[in-house]
Amino acid sequence: MKRLNFFNIQESLNAIILTMPILVQKFGGTSVQDAVCIKRVAKIATDAQKAGYQVVVVVSAMGDTTDNLIDLARDVTSKPDPREYDLLLSTGEQISIPLVAMAIHFLGARAISQTGLQVGIMTEDRHGKARITEIKTSKLKKYLSEENIVVVAGFQGISESTGEITTLGRGGSDTTAVALAVALGAERCDIYTDVEGVFTTDPVIVKDASRLKTISYEEMLELASLGAGVLHPRSVEIAKNYNMPMRVRSSFKPQDDGTLVKGVKEMELNNPVSGVALDESQARIAIVGVPDKPGIAAKVFESLAKKNISVDMIVQSTSKDGINEIAFTVDKETIDDATKVTKEIAKDIGATGVTAETNIAKVSIVGAGMIGRPGIAAAMFKALADSSVNIQMISTSEIKVSCVIEAKDGDKAVKAIHKVFELDKLNKEKQKI
Ligand code: ADP
Ligand code: ASP
Ligand code: MG
Repeated sequence: MKRLNFFNIQESLNAIILTMPILVQKFGGTSVQDAVCIKRVAKIATDAQKAGYQVVVVVSAMGDTTDNLIDLARDVTSKPDPREYDLLLSTGEQISIPLVAMAIHFLGARAISQTGLQVGIMTEDRHGKARITEIKTSKLKKYLSEENIVVVAGFQGISESTGEITTLGRGGSDTTAVALAVALGAERCDIYTDVEGVFTTDPVIVKDASRLKTISYEEMLELASLGAGVLHPRSVEIAKNYNMPMRVRSSFKPQDDGTLVKGVKEMELNNPVSGVALDESQARIAIVGVPDKPGIAAKVFESLAKKNISVDMIVQSTSKDGINEIAFTVDKETIDDATKVTKEIAKDIGATGVTAETNIAKVSIVGAGMIGRPGIAAAMFKALADSSVNIQMISTSEIKVSCVIEAKDGDKAVKAIHKVFELDKLNKEKQKI
């Protein structure tokens, strides 16, 4: 008979721990804004461990730390060097991870904090908006097998080719969490934030917005990409690609279920409209007096692409007397570069002028159930018209309709659209449209 010695016991314990499911919990800035909040986070993480999970915690920078670091950089220079900027911004998360680990120690559990560099969160060689390419899991698994709660810094990684610190774009800690959940084969990724889940629109703008019990990856990806800041779009994209369930919930009411973001079964009934999003980060450029001939659009957008400027909506007016107008939207941050490039091309193609407008907002509706229902877009336009909101541009896809409007009309537009689709009653009764 095999004798049970210390090593056998340790091996058996390790084997048990390794079969325990993994849970990734992510806490945003407000959830770690002060010592009281950090202690609350420690309690949520240790409770999950007691419930039988191996726990990985991903944290953002405390409160407004990232904004303050950005302001500091701008006080020093108007054009910060991208490498130095990433190194600066990554320090925010480095403050919160040891504090969370210490708070977990105080509760009598084991924890170890890890920066992106220490874990091995590998990214592309691109500062400010790098995409994660690989996550090394051996160290994480070792720490988990030693019963640690591993506290990982969100939003940061290291470039695979240069070894430099990179960041993933504002709100990128969500993406760190989902990528870790996928790499570790976690059961779920819980995103703890300052609201109780995903709502039919930003509950700060519309007080009676409804919390969605579930939402499909597709709809959530559209909402996040169209400005619903509650989740980083890339995190939803990764969750969708790997079928990783995400739950958005409040760190202030951890007992509530929040919203489950998941795949949908074919036969499930979809809402015509699940949500309204507002994006105030875009600007509009128009090229006027454009000669109407083949190859012009290709020239314009090739030149912008070469400068790495992403274009979102594009509208070309119908030609009148051989002349038309091309208007498009870009990220506000790239407006100066985009205008410069566009002016050069305008000259090249014989257009008469270029205008740039930063005072715009994009309001969108998203719903998987709008497919094949032409009345939905019309109802949105009517709601805007009834509120005297002028539409400057329109774009549609299967599950969304977006309108560019004047920035000052943003909140008014969201409220009017939310009302016309009776989204305050969603989950309580069926939508009428
Ligand atoms: P965190 O710091 O936890 O990542 P964020 O500020 O990034 O938090 O995201 C949460 C915020 O997202 C909420 O406070 C809310 O104002 C905003 N938000 C925008 N659209 C929505 C929506 N549809 N549902 C829920 N929250 C939303
Ligand atoms: N701290 C970063 C930001 O404020 C990342 C995040 O919070 O997700 O954007
Ligand atoms: Mg966020």
